[in-house]
Amino acid sequence: EQRKLSRCEKGSRNYQKQKKKVALYHEKIKNQRKDFQHKLSYSLAEDYDAVCVEDLNLKGIAGGLHFGKGIQDNGYGQFLSMLGYKLEERGKYLIKVDRYFASSKICSVCGHKKKELALSERIYLCECGNRMDRDVNAAVNILKEGKRIYKKCA
Ligand SMILES: [Zn+2]
Repeated sequence: EQRKLSRCEKGSRNYQKQKKKVALYHEKIKNQRKDFQHKLSYSLAEDYDAVCVEDLNLKGIAGGLHFGKGIQDNGYGQFLSMLGYKLEERGKYLIKVDRYFASSKICSVCGHKKKELALSERIYLCECGNRMDRDVNAAVNILKEGKRIYKKCA
């Protein structure tokens, strides 16, 4: 519909009509995304006593590397705030791990920290024999760090 709009003569009747159509689709997609975020944050808040997340620097990312649409349009920030209040309502915790914590570079099994890790390396390989999906390895590290932070505060 966006492509159709670009072909319409600006200011024409058809242009106005098409513009409205595009706006409606944007609204619909926005609502679908929000609905999905509500459902996911609800089930996480129901199932877990605490959720540990990475506190990403959204401004820093927006202009640089591509981490997917969800983060670019701040969908992640919106999701975290939903998850945060849903957990809080239940007396549970959202624990944010510092964004400078090297969750991707550390081996979640032996603790060895790599100097470099390219974004293209989807599998984390360590000298200790650990072979893990990059994101799973990072998630385990975030969980461990979250638990450590929680213990320090409790
Ligand atoms: Zn290791």
